[in-house]
Amino acid sequence: MLHPKISNISATRHILKTFNLRASKKLGQNFLIDSSVVEKIVKAAEISDVEEILEIGPGIGTLTQGLLEAGAKVTAVELDKKLPEVLEKTLAGYENFKLIQGDILKVNISEIMPENFKVVANLPYYITTQILLTLMEKKLPITKIVTMVQKEVAERMIAAPNSKIYGAMSVAVQFRADVKISFDVQPESFLPRPEVTSSVVVCDIHEPKFQVDEKFFTKVVRAAFGQRRKTLLNSLVGGGFNRENVLNALNSAEISPERRAETLTIEEFAQLSNFLNVK
Ligand code: SAM
Repeated sequence: MLHPKISNISATRHILKTFNLRASKKLGQNFLIDSSVVEKIVKAAEISDVEEILEIGPGIGTLTQGLLEAGAKVTAVELDKKLPEVLEKTLAGYENFKLIQGDILKVNISEIMPENFKVVANLPYYITTQILLTLMEKKLPITKIVTMVQKEVAERMIAAPNSKIYGAMSVAVQFRADVKISFDVQPESFLPRPEVTSSVVVCDIHEPKFQVDEKFFTKVVRAAFGQRRKTLLNSLVGGGFNRENVLNALNSAEISPERRAETLTIEEFAQLSNFLNVK
């Protein structure tokens, strides 16, 4: 350990006080203060020697330190302009750390990361969904994502068809990954405490299970879930697809137009997308 452990309440308070910082609600700043949680996240990431990791939102470096101690090479993207000077001190001496100050939704990830990498993050909850969808849909060479999210989001990520929480997020994630909830984290493990329970989710990324035009598939899935209470036919038409084309595609895929999006398996979405995408 090159520097005192950050993952406890006194070190975190000390760092915030030294730099005259207050956790920003707007930026979703809830810093980890529980070393056992950091250890469990690092373990879930299955880091082998000099593994390349993209960390989103390193904050004051709590999780980053755990990753670096495990031997990872970490590139971190942090939006808060006040944090680079903090990280320079808290992670001083760790050679395998690189910080990029910027917005993860705007940074060109392929430019900053190598051929294969893992993503590890305690995500800012105000943009969790956008970040996860960006990572999933950009076809980046990611092998694994280990991420802290709100428990409710974790449950949506693993949801199966016919459940109320199965939606565009479940399809987008499960289309490209085997997903499981690794463990839950209580609000007491953070400073300040969030209002909700969190979960660490592990996504093992694989090739898409079905061959589709991915952009078009995403459009179909989003339109289908756009109006959950409506039938599939009405949702897709409401989402801008031509009624006759939708009816033909549903017919070819042997899916009743009366069904609702939440009843479709990923395979059925793939078939529907392929039949609808004939030019
Ligand atoms: N990793 C630290 C930890 O576990 O204690 C901090 C996690 S905190 C929940 C989320 C971090 O994401 C904050 O440091 C916040 O400033 C940063 N953040 C918020 N929006 C961001 C964005 N669009 N791009 C990159 N980082 C962002």
